[in-house]
This record gives sequence, structure tokens and C-alpha cells, in this order.
Amino acid sequence: MHQRVFFLSAKKAALLSAILLLLILYAAAVGSEGHSEQPVFSYGVAGRIIVIDAGHGGLDQGATRGQFAEHDIALQIAKKLEYYLSQGGAAVIMLRDNESDLAGDEFTGTIRQHKKTDMKQRVTTANQAAADLYISIHLNAVPGSSWSGAQVFFKPRDEDSKMAARMIQEELTSILGNTNRKAAAGNYYVLKNVEMPAVLIETGFLSNPREARLLADPEYQRKVAYAIFAGVARAAVMQSEAPAADRQK
Ligand SMILES: [Zn+2]
Repeated sequence: MHQRVFFLSAKKAALLSAILLLLILYAAAVGSEGHSEQPVFSYGVAGRIIVIDAGHGGLDQGATRGQFAEHDIALQIAKKLEYYLSQGGAAVIMLRDNESDLAGDEFTGTIRQHKKTDMKQRVTTANQAAADLYISIHLNAVPGSSWSGAQVFFKPRDEDSKMAARMIQEELTSILGNTNRKAAAGNYYVLKNVEMPAVLIETGFLSNPREARLLADPEYQRKVAYAIFAGVARAAVMQSEAPAADRQK
């Protein structure tokens, strides 16, 4: 009888600790006041080196529609992502944190040479940092206005990249609630040339006027950044629990 009483209180204690832990995690989920944003177990990103590459910059504005420019919005989302990942304990390296690109404003070659130097420098910096993950942030644009939705691309034939992309895509889908796109292998220079797992996120279509307005809204940018962070954190936890070979389906 005595043992049974002890067993019950131990169960209650365990339940109370579980509730307390959930409350702490909830409080730790920085700025997650949105309905669909769940608290994130951020321990997976603690101590990881993560490179964030805000696309374009310098001479290259990327896609533009009206007053909206890709280089500018990509940087704003990248900075919000930097905040979340840093809060989670990651060592974040921003490939650019201002208007300039990585070739430098004093570069004197042709625009094509300038762009090539810039892209090479992004890859070199990520590789020299020996980062655990490379995340590139872009915005999409096509001739028509009907396409919309965020989509995540991953380094071809790399399981860790694929899993990170899938997790990020799932979070974008559930938190933004406006895309059915699926993660896909991406034929991008940066994805093919960085040595670590790598994803490139097309956060939405500037060519869709409604989505362009959303993408320029700081609160929407924060949600996009939080979704990317949540996906990265989930993938990091899974990667720490099983080696890549065991996760192949
Ligand atoms: Zn781009």
C-alpha cells in the first residue's frame, strides 16, 4: 500500500515536471504568438555552425516587382532567421548583412565577372566556416501572376539536405498555411558547390501581387523565418538521433 501511494506521487511528480517543462519550452519559443506556431525544441541547433546566405545584393537586385526587390526582402527574412537561430544557440554566419554583395563595391570587372566572383565567394566562405548547414534565402518571380507559395530546394543526392528541406517545407506549409509545394532537389550553383548539407528557400513569388505584399510585411517575414528555424531545429534533432544511412527510405 505504501509502495502504491509512492508510485502515484511519483507519477504525479513526473506529470508536473512534464507540464513545467512544456511551459518552459513554450516560454522559450521566442515570439511565437501565432496560432499555428508550436514551441520548438531548439536544442538541436545549439552549438551548430549555420551559414545564412541572403540572395543577391550589390549590383544584383534579384527579382523586382514595383517597389518590391528580392535582395532587400531576402535580407530582412535572413536577419529574422539569424535572430531565431542565435536564440537557439547556433553560431550563425551571415554571408551578407547589408546591401553589398560579396564581390565588394570596389570590384572593377564586368557585371558578369562581378556576379561570378560574388557566387564563388559565398561558397568559399561557407566552406571555410566548415558549417553544419547552409541556408540560402530567395524570392521567386515568373512572368504570370498566378503562382504563389514558398518552396524549399535541397542539394541533390544528399540525405541530410533532403531531410532538412522536407522539415522546413512542412513548417512553412503549416505555419504560413498558403502553400502545397513540396521540397525538391535544386539545380543551383551554391547547392552543388558548398561542402555541407544545403537548402535554398524560395520564400514566395514576388510576381503574385498578394504574396509580394505579404513578403514585404515584417510580421509575415517573421513567420517565414520562424518556420525555417523550426524546420532546421527539427531536422537537427533527427540528425543527432540517427546517422544519415539509417534514415534513407
Ligand atoms: Zn534569387
